Amino acid sequence: MSRKLIAGNWKMNGLRAQGEALARGLAERAAASGPDVEWLVCPPFTLLAPVGEALEGTSVALGAQDCHPQGQGAYTGDIAADMLRDLGCAYVIVGHSERRHGHGERSELVRGKAEAAARAGLKPIVCVGECERQRVAGKTLAVLEEQLADSLPDACPEGLVVAYEPVWAIGTGKTATPADVEQAHGHIRGLLAHRYGEAGRGVRLLYGGSVKPGNAGELLRTPDVDGALVGGASLKLDDFWGIGEAAA
Ligand code: PEP
Repeated sequence: MSRKLIAGNWKMNGLRAQGEALARGLAERAAASGPDVEWLVCPPFTLLAPVGEALEGTSVALGAQDCHPQGQGAYTGDIAADMLRDLGCAYVIVGHSERRHGHGERSELVRGKAEAAARAGLKPIVCVGECERQRVAGKTLAVLEEQLADSLPDACPEGLVVAYEPVWAIGTGKTATPADVEQAHGHIRGLLAHRYGEAGRGVRLLYGGSVKPGNAGELLRTPDVDGALVGGASLKLDDFWGIGEAAA
């Protein structure tokens, strides 16, 4: 398998000075030495341009947190995948639980966004995950199955990434156990292979949900975990770096 992908989702955090400093700090450390991982930061839309400039020529990739399914048009406040590509983005997160739950986004819309990302030459990071109630009811695998069936494009996008993010673990300090993660990722891997054949085996699977330097090692050593999607801890350079170190 390829290097682990360590992706930071900055969410709605940061003004220009902080974002640039965080990006520069990460790029400088990555250039000097450090773990053999693929670094990615996903700042809010407002910081994509300055952070992209700070990262130009470095090994740290740039991504966005969302995109619109259409290429252009009368969609006030939205951002098209081509616009993200134009700013130097390589990745875009789609279907994050904060979009699914906070904005009522359904899987069919997530699929449209993933397709738009692929058309624009971006690698979509499609997020799925069960909420607490579904977990307690023993429905985790069924929820993942349903979300993936409806959220993924028919043809496997180049560089597709799937992030398993149990909703109850996001920003709560609670983490899934390695056994839970192994079961969920094994199931997702099987679904991807069934859907996409050989291409499905190459899809990278990230775990997300309160990943910190202290728990990253065991989570990232779990079978079928190809990296981490990190929220809160990606805003602190030492913590984000520590997660990368634990991954290598
Ligand atoms: C996320 O937002 O994708 C996430 C995993 O957040 P946190 O690491 O803060 O739980």
